[in-house]
Amino acid sequence: MKHVKRLITDFDLNDKKVIIRCDLNVPIKDGVILDDNRIKESLKTIKYAIGNNAKVIILSHLGRIKSEEDKIKNSLKPVAARLSELLQQDVVFVEETRGRVLEEHVKDLKPGEVLLVQNTRFEDYPDKKESTNDSELGKYWASLGDIFVNDAFGTAHRAHASNVGVASNLPSALGFLVEKELKMLEAVINNVKHPYTVIMGGAKMRDKIKVIDKLAQKADYLLFAGGIANTFLVASGYDLKASVYDEESVSYCKTLLDKYDDKIILPVDGYANLSYEDTDKPIYVQNEAVPDKSVVLDVGPKTINLFKKYILKSNTIFWNGPVGVFEFEHFKTGTKNICELLKESNAVVVVGGGDSASAVINLGYKNDFTHVSTGGGASLCYIEGKSLPGIEIINDK
Ligand code: ADP
Ligand code: MG
Repeated sequence: MKHVKRLITDFDLNDKKVIIRCDLNVPIKDGVILDDNRIKESLKTIKYAIGNNAKVIILSHLGRIKSEEDKIKNSLKPVAARLSELLQQDVVFVEETRGRVLEEHVKDLKPGEVLLVQNTRFEDYPDKKESTNDSELGKYWASLGDIFVNDAFGTAHRAHASNVGVASNLPSALGFLVEKELKMLEAVINNVKHPYTVIMGGAKMRDKIKVIDKLAQKADYLLFAGGIANTFLVASGYDLKASVYDEESVSYCKTLLDKYDDKIILPVDGYANLSYEDTDKPIYVQNEAVPDKSVVLDVGPKTINLFKKYILKSNTIFWNGPVGVFEFEHFKTGTKNICELLKESNAVVVVGGGDSASAVINLGYKNDFTHVSTGGGASLCYIEGKSLPGIEIINDK
């Protein structure tokens, strides 16, 4: 997809009510934001709108809402506070996703002021309205503004009311973050310099395993780790005991192994524990001798050495999914080693995925790679060659 979409800079924003769909879906625990990267990445577009005298209305989702409890856990309130700090100006936070209070706050907005609406997915409970792109909901949100700007790359692969729904009812444009993401990812898709290597790890197995066939048609090497690799190792006949893998994908993984035998590279060793917990005594294991009841939580040194061969000869690398449970102090070594190798390589390195991005940022490598995408599923879809509905819907130039 060549992007000929309108950009925020193509509109006169002066005195206009500009709805910006941001991806402020950050990890929050007990009301504390653990990683504010997505908020920071959204600032450029928001500041541009403020600087051009727009009345800024921000929409974003946060996590999933399947119960009343989820609403307490996934309020955007802490995000509003952090956004306000980063912008160094007040952010009006409206606790409702629709209704009179919201409408009055919108009416009171002055040019240069910013309002953040409560988590759009509050509209997913009790009825799924946001995620099914309920047409009334999209129309309602659109009625609050004059112009719509989509800057939420992380949800661009989904057709929801807060992106596709609103865009269907207003003049629309892309924001700076989405523009940057597309430009960087296009470099991987359209200008691939071979050898091209995909490193895939993490725990979202079923979704990721589904895209491997497409990726394998373009890539020269596929280095697997985490739950993805475990599923392939089980398909190859290894017994990984209590390790995480996707039972339902095993037979499909066998087919992929037959088809891409020369491209798929699997771990040969790792570090395990007797439960899914951190420990300061990780157990070193090889595939053929994983002790009973143990869970493999990271890749081992032989695997790193094996991966190194492929990484250092690659010219393009796309990495999605940490290679170990990097959240545990004693199982982050594999992921850190991969970061080191990627830093050492001369390849164009693009990292995509919520947890992958967190890992790269927390381990201190963000500036060592060509691009760290804010979108996991979206970057995978794009790399796979699919179009993204949240972007498709935006007006052409
Ligand atoms: P991303 O968000 O980057 O796409 P995923 O959501 O698929 O990645 O997976 C990230 C999670 O995978 C992390 O929380 C990490 O702890 C977990 N993970 C990595 N390796 C393993 C493993 N061997 N066993 C279980 N979980 C793993
Ligand atoms: Mg994730």
